[in-house]
Amino acid sequence: MTDQPCPCGSGKKFKACCELYLSDQAYPNAAEPLMRSRYCAYSMGNLAYLRKTWHPDTCPNLNEEDLETQWTRLEVIKSKPGLKQSVVEFKAWYTENDQEHVIHEISLFKLYKKRWVYIRPLTKWP
Ligand SMILES: [Zn+2]
Repeated sequence: MTDQPCPCGSGKKFKACCELYLSDQAYPNAAEPLMRSRYCAYSMGNLAYLRKTWHPDTCPNLNEEDLETQWTRLEVIKSKPGLKQSVVEFKAWYTENDQEHVIHEISLFKLYKKRWVYIRPLTKWP
C-alpha cells in the first residue's frame, strides 16, 4: 500500500503523502493537504484521524457506520488558502450498489490551536 499512489489523487506515493499524516509523523500545514488526508481517512476508516482534524465544536459523534462508504476518487477543484481560514472545493466519488455517485462540497477550514481543522461545508463560495 505505502508504495502505491496516494488515494487522495495528489500524484505522490502514499508513503510520501497522506500516510505521513495518518500515521502521526506529520500534520498538514495547509487546508488542502488536510482535506486530502481526511479523504484518505474516510476511505481507510480512520476515525481517530477524522476526530483529530475536526474542530471540536462541529465534530459530530462519528462511529464506524459513518465510514462504510466505498470511496473511489477525489478531485480538488479549487482551494483558497488564507492565514486563519481556508476554503477547499472538491468532488469525491463513491460506489453504492454498483452505481457511481459523487459528492460536491465547498469546505471551510480554520486554524485552531495552530493546526488546520475542518469546520463545516459551505453553501457557496465566501
Ligand atoms: Zn495523499
